Amino acid sequence: MATGVNKTAHAFDKTRLEGMLLRRFFYAPAFEIYRGVAGLYDYGPPGSSLQANIINEWRKHFIIEEGMLEIDSTILTPAPVFETSGHVARFADWMVKDTKTGDVLRADHLVKNVLEARLAGDKEARGIAAEPKEEEALKKQSKRKDKAAKAAPVKLSDEVAAEYERILAQIDNYSGPELGQLCRDHKIVNPDTGNEVTEPQPFNLMFTTSIGPTGQHPGYLRPETAQGHFVNFQRLLEFNNGRVPFASAQIGRSFRNEISPRAGLLRVREFTMAEIEHFVDPDDKRHERFNEVRDVELNLLDRHTQAAGSSAPKRMTVGEAVGKGVIANETLGYFVARIYLFLTKIGINPKRLRFRQHMANEMAHYATDCWDAEIENSTGWTECVGCADRAAYDLTVHAKRTGAPLVVREALKEPIVTEKEVPEFNKKLMGKTFGKDLPVVTQTVSTMSEEELIKLKGQLAQGEAVIKSADGREFKLTPEILTIERQTLKQSIREFTPNVIEPSFGLGRILYTLLEHSFWSREQDADRSVLSLPVVVAPTKVLIVPLSTKKFDELVQEVSSKLRKAGVFSRVDDSNQSIGRRYARNDELGTPFGVTLDFASLQNRTMTLRERDTTEQLIGGIDEVLAVVVDLCNGAIGWGEACERLERYTGQQNVD
Ligand code: AMP
Repeated sequence: MATGVNKTAHAFDKTRLEGMLLRRFFYAPAFEIYRGVAGLYDYGPPGSSLQANIINEWRKHFIIEEGMLEIDSTILTPAPVFETSGHVARFADWMVKDTKTGDVLRADHLVKNVLEARLAGDKEARGIAAEPKEEEALKKQSKRKDKAAKAAPVKLSDEVAAEYERILAQIDNYSGPELGQLCRDHKIVNPDTGNEVTEPQPFNLMFTTSIGPTGQHPGYLRPETAQGHFVNFQRLLEFNNGRVPFASAQIGRSFRNEISPRAGLLRVREFTMAEIEHFVDPDDKRHERFNEVRDVELNLLDRHTQAAGSSAPKRMTVGEAVGKGVIANETLGYFVARIYLFLTKIGINPKRLRFRQHMANEMAHYATDCWDAEIENSTGWTECVGCADRAAYDLTVHAKRTGAPLVVREALKEPIVTEKEVPEFNKKLMGKTFGKDLPVVTQTVSTMSEEELIKLKGQLAQGEAVIKSADGREFKLTPEILTIERQTLKQSIREFTPNVIEPSFGLGRILYTLLEHSFWSREQDADRSVLSLPVVVAPTKVLIVPLSTKKFDELVQEVSSKLRKAGVFSRVDDSNQSIGRRYARNDELGTPFGVTLDFASLQNRTMTLRERDTTEQLIGGIDEVLAVVVDLCNGAIGWGEACERLERYTGQQNVD
């Protein structure tokens, strides 16, 4: 198909996009008429449909394709769950306060924004075009009353510019005290006021609540859906006939009390997540479908590259990355590739998608490897999906706290036969001899190594032995109290705690970056914007445009009913505006196809079909066009094939 469409004729204009999204009610600040609260958004009709279609594709791509077990667990969570998972102690960001106004800022964002703005100022002074994220930082600063890092172009020395680049390449790797040091070393102050900031303090991001009329159960709104999977592990395992690997999946709301949510849908306080927990044998992290993704090529930014101060990703196939140990194991590599395939299928530009490995400090202490899918947009590179190997951490801590056996019991093909020294206690006599110290004595003997038990056995054979407990106390044992015997043990069950590979998607971030990647303006008129959303996610698939209201009612009914029966979502625009205007309005909503009913339709039963991006038009009999439209919307054919099945429409028709 010769499209002749120039989607880059005009530079990307964020203000125009945001204006359009608000005007067309993709989404809007929540509680606007009450002046709202930052970080909360409501989705309108096109935004909701777009999100629903992304979720639908996600369910098909992951849950259905991979036979995952879907769950829907509660948002309200009793406090002990998050005490155990470590969120109460550690789910925090570093914040600083303006020393005079008390305004709160997120420490890493402050450092990042100020350094990016200084680099942009430097480039401007040297007459070089700044990168989008730097320009954005510069714009933000010039909007504020900026006394400190004035947005005016200031040239930096080569060493200082290189140092800033190095810091930015590993901005996620700094601890709170290190961020404080960076503020002091580089004279970073609050750009809004020019005032100094305090030392960074941790701020827990969870919303607290209490459950029950007297508030007897302290709780939290979940900040991720993951714990709902872990606490249900036993039932899920049973549902899967006691076998691993298997994955559970969940789509639902999460809540984080972000310190300063300023970036639209990219950083909000309530958002929809789609999370997968893939449970796997720790001794075998191969994936049976790895061959299907082995050749998928990715942009990988590994931790060594970042530590060296560079942000240049390496292009590599997943097979190569796992083979060389860049990605820790096959299952993690499999999911990274599947995430890539999903994101590009729904319309994310593959050139603006990279996978960045977490650096040592950034990664949770228990995780063995973690890769974020980052998507480039007007604010820079944004993490949209996290994909981590969380090892056995979550199941282990929940099992320890609750006593629930969150383990897999696997029948061994061949039993393992071992010989072992086994202590046997005369509990009655021990009780009389040691009283309340009985558990200490039992514990001390039970935790002895094989070697220690053999030694103890030898001493008992001599008549008595003295053991020392962990707190240093000594206890005398006799052969009447304790006997140790060598026994042959047959083990036919292997018990283990599975490891977890977790892909975690933030749908709002994906939705917004997709809108940026899809947005452009027609070459001849910058005011005519288009959203080139792929058919699978477009909110409305077909626009039905009758020439004037009444005369066409019957035909409109017929066409919309036939589309409905074929499962294609269409809308009728029978407003009084010109057909061109009606199409232009729907280009902004991302509607990929339009059909027009005119006088020729009444007389000849013909209908024209228009494609959004090229504005090319085809013509044929109503049923013929409908068959093509249905195939286009189901993804069975592309526009090129549609052009072969229908005649090109030139604007001329025979009407008597
Ligand atoms: P995390 O558990 O922090 O790795 O987050 C998982 C995913 O949730 C991220 O990749 C984001 O897509 C999304 N996410 C996290 N925090 C926010 C937020 N404040 N606003 C929107 N999306 C978020």
